[in-house]
Amino acid sequence: MAAPSTATTGSVLGPLADIATTGWDLFVANLPRDLTWPFLLITLGLGLILWSARAGRGSKDASGRERPAGLLQFLLPRDIYSHPSARVDVGLYVLERLLHPFWYGALILTVGTTTEAGVIAALSASGTTPGLESSLGWMLLYSLCTLLIYDFVFYAIHYTEHKVPALWAIHKVHHSAEVLTPLTRYREHFLEGPLYAAGSAFSYGLAGGVFGWLFNDGITQATLFNIGFFSLLFGFNGSFRHYHVAFHYPRWLSKWLHSPVMHHTHHSYLPQHWDTNLAAVTSLWDRLFGTLYIPEKDEFTPWGLGPETQHRYRSWWQNTTGPFRDWAGMLKRGYP
Ligand SMILES: [Zn+2]
Ligand SMILES: [Zn+2]
Repeated sequence: MAAPSTATTGSVLGPLADIATTGWDLFVANLPRDLTWPFLLITLGLGLILWSARAGRGSKDASGRERPAGLLQFLLPRDIYSHPSARVDVGLYVLERLLHPFWYGALILTVGTTTEAGVIAALSASGTTPGLESSLGWMLLYSLCTLLIYDFVFYAIHYTEHKVPALWAIHKVHHSAEVLTPLTRYREHFLEGPLYAAGSAFSYGLAGGVFGWLFNDGITQATLFNIGFFSLLFGFNGSFRHYHVAFHYPRWLSKWLHSPVMHHTHHSYLPQHWDTNLAAVTSLWDRLFGTLYIPEKDEFTPWGLGPETQHRYRSWWQNTTGPFRDWAGMLKRGYP
């Protein structure tokens, strides 16, 4: 570790200040990586490995029940990809993605840089920075801290959405998916984007502020192929979380990292699965707050909102107007 320097901190800018200089970069960074060919091919490749390793077992049908399948039915089952819910995914995705860059850019520029600058200013109250020398170990630590903070903020937002009726009205649209496809990850109401964009901007700003201060702006996250090291490591998990093939990790590993199948249970309407597995990447926060649920092998996970509510969330229009209908109902009944 290098000796602390006595450099003044007037000109210290965190990593986010650099990122925020080009709106175009933000737009490009905002394109969903796991819908690109390499990531879809990774999903299919892993599916192929699982198919041969388990002799055709481990793939679920549109009702969320595991059944034996030939290769094509295992990887791309007709009942899932021709389901009305998969079509609604496309429409919701298009609207949400059209609006997302504006919110995401604006929130990174405001929430992210303000948080980062605020943290640096608070830590620099004495007028000096430690001025540490960056190394691969520190870069990995920076990536890991960013991931853990992001995962916690994601958990907090997601938990609140599940528990507060006015927010559940928005998040319900993601849970109204009756089948899971890689696109379901982006099936969300257009009002949900800003919540998570603000959350990620805040997390990156917090980590960027602390590490920008520690290293006098001389640190970046560890990357592999130009992608954040841990984002790359866990990126494939994103599309597999919303893929109908049950990808289990060994039980001990599931206590640390969410296996993709743990998101199958999150989307199930069975009471024992409600409000479980709320984080994005690690199992730490769910474990800490008692919401971790590790499913048994090929556990039945019927997806969607359940028979009582599902019929009101079938079409694109029903899903897009859903929160407004719910809020109107709450107002009428005198919410809360
Ligand atoms: Zn949820
Ligand atoms: Zn989901």
